[in-house]
Amino acid sequence: MKYLIVLLVVVCGLWLLLKRHVRSDQDAPSRRGDTPLQAMVQCARCGLHLPAADAVLEGTRVYCCEEHRRLGPGTTP
Ligand SMILES: [Zn+2]
Repeated sequence: MKYLIVLLVVVCGLWLLLKRHVRSDQDAPSRRGDTPLQAMVQCARCGLHLPAADAVLEGTRVYCCEEHRRLGPGTTP
């Protein structure tokens, strides 16, 4: 009976360890992708630099927001 409890504790420990290991593996790529190698683009209206993922695209031009896309390209201040 004593060995059964020890075995249960060991199995639980291994399971938690494995679970944590899998979770850290899933977190790693997204954390790596977020920070350093993100393409930056410039708004054709106001000249603001922003991540390409947040940009509003129209043809070959990029804008920082929907309003600037609607206003079209303008002179940068
Ligand atoms: Zn803009």
